[in-house]
Amino acid sequence: MLRSHYSKEIGEKDYGKKISIAGWIEDIRNLGGIAFVILRDRYGRMQITAIKKQNPELFKELVSLSRESVIAAYGTCQENEKVMNGWELLIEKMEVLAKADTPLPMGVIDKVNVDFDTRLDNRIIDLRRDEVKAIFMIRHSFIGFASEFLRKKGFVEVHTPKISAASSEGGTEVFRIDYFGRPAYLVQSPQLYKQMLMASGLDRVYEIAWYFRAEEHDTSRHLNESTAIDIEMAFIESEEEVMKVAEEMTDYAIQKIVDENSKELDILQVEVDLPSLPYPRITYDEVVEILQKEIDFKWGDDLGTDEENLLAKHVDYELYFITKFPLEIKPFYAMFDGKYARAFDLEFKGMEIASGAQRIHDYDLLIKRMDELGMNKENFEDYLKAFRYGMPPHGGFGYGIERFLMRLLNLTNIRECILFPRDRKRLRP
Ligand code: ATP
Ligand code: MG
Repeated sequence: MLRSHYSKEIGEKDYGKKISIAGWIEDIRNLGGIAFVILRDRYGRMQITAIKKQNPELFKELVSLSRESVIAAYGTCQENEKVMNGWELLIEKMEVLAKADTPLPMGVIDKVNVDFDTRLDNRIIDLRRDEVKAIFMIRHSFIGFASEFLRKKGFVEVHTPKISAASSEGGTEVFRIDYFGRPAYLVQSPQLYKQMLMASGLDRVYEIAWYFRAEEHDTSRHLNESTAIDIEMAFIESEEEVMKVAEEMTDYAIQKIVDENSKELDILQVEVDLPSLPYPRITYDEVVEILQKEIDFKWGDDLGTDEENLLAKHVDYELYFITKFPLEIKPFYAMFDGKYARAFDLEFKGMEIASGAQRIHDYDLLIKRMDELGMNKENFEDYLKAFRYGMPPHGGFGYGIERFLMRLLNLTNIRECILFPRDRKRLRP
């Protein structure tokens, strides 16, 4: 066995015992007769101590290793108050598992600022840094806790196709691909499929979904490939029930992250203020009133980054809903009352992190809406079919995972929140 213990598992109970540890060499200090090596594993750092006269060959091999080489080390775990963790490994045997080339394309512990592109070009090394790893541990937690919440509420996890014959919802740009000589598209969201599933009897579904959007934006909050938590639920009376799931899921996940990721939050220097439920609801009309006091804004305009930021300055909450949007700025499938869509956005520190709505479930009404918008119904044949044989009232939301993390962790660029970002310029690694 290469490793008997991870760093975090070693304590007083192991003092005086033989153990083996494994990881990356972060630093080597060779004082001539004695050398100290800092070894890093996924949970922390450990000191290995080598004494030359005890085993000159082992000593020589160890001190000649390059930083970030991977080793497994075996020896006695010895208590030592002066050393971090309160113990050191007196090395007796070593297996060099992989040598790292020199020079490293970027440092792991050096405090020097590396530019973001260099970091992304060397993402695997970047991920060895505590503050980067912490983001992905919290991402892991968020998805787990949100799933846990949804499952408790009776949502079934599903996986819908990402390659489709129709160019999904319209609106945003889609990536066209060659599917055995036929045109096909990467789906921009699971929207149409999750709605279709509402007619299947699985009347509460969720998906950890990929969104592919060929929008040519170059902003700090858009990716061309992003992930989301999508839900759809049937037998609802209004979008309020969907909003309740969105806020309770958010509350549950944040609470659990605060409880279980304190180490990562500390590394990222994030203090989380847990907002109380329910989150405030601000209608679009109220938003217009607030904005019109300061800028030129017409009823019916969509809210962009500037408007959202301005609004956030006037609201005393970090998390709030904007409700009752003008129908014309929401997609064709949104249910409506007169000129208002029964749609909402969830805002977190002045940025949209989720959008949802009650949807139209009545086939004739859906056809009427599509005709009004001049849509080509042939492209939606399979979708529409699901509405003809018993479709209950339903609604749902799409909730951006990277957007949520960006706001929770106060990160300025959404690319920090996904392992290998895809944007207009970046297709590698
Ligand atoms: P925006 O107006 O901010 O570009 P949107 O309204 O087009 O977003 P929706 O279609 O409502 O996005 O998607 C639901 C959620 O998915 C959004 O609230 C957001 O959190 C996330 N999302 C959508 N598009 C992207 C993207 N390009 N990059 C990252 N996250 C996205
Ligand atoms: Mg939206």
